[in-house]
Amino acid sequence: MTERITAVKGMNDIAPPDSAHWEWLEARVRALLARYGYRNVRTPIVEPLALFVRGLGEVTDIVEKEMYAFEDRLNGEQLALRPEGTAGVVRAVVEHNLLYDGPKRLYYMGPMFRHERPQRGRYRQFHQIGVEALGLAGPEADVELITLAADLWRELDLQDVTLELNTLGQPAERQAHRQALIAYFEQHRDQLDEDARRRLYTNPLRILDTKNPQMQALVEAAPKLLDHLGAHSRAHFETVCALLQAQGIAYRVNPRLVRGLDYYHHTVFEFVTTSLGAQGTVCAGGRYDGLVAELGGKAAPGVGWALGVERILELLKAQQRLPAAPVPDVYAIVPDAQAWPTVLPVLRTLRAAGLQVLMHASTPDGLGSMKSQFKKADASGARYALIFGADELAAAQVAVKPLREGLAGDVTHQVTLPLAEAAAWAARLRPAHAPR
Ligand code: ATP
Ligand code: MG
Repeated sequence: MTERITAVKGMNDIAPPDSAHWEWLEARVRALLARYGYRNVRTPIVEPLALFVRGLGEVTDIVEKEMYAFEDRLNGEQLALRPEGTAGVVRAVVEHNLLYDGPKRLYYMGPMFRHERPQRGRYRQFHQIGVEALGLAGPEADVELITLAADLWRELDLQDVTLELNTLGQPAERQAHRQALIAYFEQHRDQLDEDARRRLYTNPLRILDTKNPQMQALVEAAPKLLDHLGAHSRAHFETVCALLQAQGIAYRVNPRLVRGLDYYHHTVFEFVTTSLGAQGTVCAGGRYDGLVAELGGKAAPGVGWALGVERILELLKAQQRLPAAPVPDVYAIVPDAQAWPTVLPVLRTLRAAGLQVLMHASTPDGLGSMKSQFKKADASGARYALIFGADELAAAQVAVKPLREGLAGDVTHQVTLPLAEAAAWAARLRPAHAPR
C-alpha cells in the first residue's frame, strides 16, 4: 500500500458528525451578531509578517515564538499565517478607509495559526470568531461587546463562564506603572525565571501574565496599575463596571489580567471557565485605541474580542448542550435501477419544497435488497421512507411509510401517494430541521 500522508500536527480535520456542531454554533453566533448590528469581514489568512510584528508588538509570545512566518519562495516577501484576527481587520479598515462614513461594527470567523505545543484546547490551527467595533470611544462600546458575549453564553445555555475585567489605562499611566514594576522586579531579581528576566526591561507588564507557578506570589504582590490611573481612565473603567452592573452582568476585577497582546488600552477582559483545565479562557478582548494609528491610519479607537471555537464547542459538549445530529426528512428506497428516471425528478420536487431527502444509491455491491435498504432508512433517522417499488411506479404512485412515532404531519400509517401529489405532500410536512 502507498504510504499515507497525514495532517500537520496540531491541525485538525473537522468532519461529520462534529462539523454539524460547528455549523450550528456559527449560525447561532451570526444570528446574534446581526441583532447587534455587526457585519461580516473576511481578510486573507496570509498577511505581511510586518503587520503582526507591528500590530502585536515584538515582545509577545505570539511574535517571539508562535508565528508561522515564512518567505515566499517566488518573490522573497516576508509573510505569515495570521495568528489572530484583529491586526488584519484593522489593516483592511485602514487600507480601504472604511471609517470614512462613521464607526464600523465588524465580525470575522476563521482559522488562526500559532506554533504552540498541541494539547486539549490548544492547537496549531484553531478557529476564532471575533468582533471589532472601530471608531467608538466611550465605555458603552466596551460594554456592548461584553454584553454581546454574555448574551451568547445565555443563548447557548453555557454554564460556568465568568467575566474577568481589568483596565490597562493609557500609555503614560502604563509608563509610570512600568517604572514601578521594573523597580519592584529588580528588587526580587533572584525570583524571576528566564522569560521574566529577559522581559524585565522590554515588557515587564507581560511578567504579570506568567504561567510559572513559582512566580505567582511574587506577581500577586507587584505594584498595581489601578494605583497609577488618572481621572479619565478611572472614569472610563468605573463606567464600564457601572453599565455591567446596570444589566446584571457579573464580573470580577482581576488586576493581573494584562492580556497577551501589546495593543490594548483601557478595558481588557476574559471569559474563563474552570471546566476546561489549563485552557480555561474561552473568549478574550479589550480596547485597542492605539492600533489604527500604529498601522498607519488616522487615529481611531477600537474595541473587540475573539472567542476560541474549539474551546466553546468542548465546553458545550461537556455540558451536553450540543444539538442532536441532523436527520433527513425522507429516505428514498429504490429497489430497481430502472426506477431512477422517475425517482430523481420526484426527489428534486421534494427538495424544492424544503425537505431534506436522502436517496438510496448503489455501492460497489449494487443497490442491495429491500430489507437492507429499509435498515439503512431506519439508521438514517429519517422520518419517512418513500418506496419507489415497481408496482407503485406502474400506477404512477409512491408508498409513504412513517418510520418514527409521534410525528407532526398527516401520515400515520403507510399510504400510497400519486407521484403528481408528492410536492403538495411535501409542502404539508414541516421539515424536521425547520425552526420551531
Ligand atoms: P491562552 O492564554 O490560552 O494562550 P491567548 O491569550 O493566547 O490564550 P487570544 O490571543 O486572546 O488567546 O485568543 C482569543 C481566544 O482564542 C482564547 O481565549 C482562546 O479561547 C482561543 N485560543 C487562543 N490560542 C488558541 C490555541 N492555540 N488553540 C485553541 N484556541 C486558542
Ligand atoms: Mg496564547
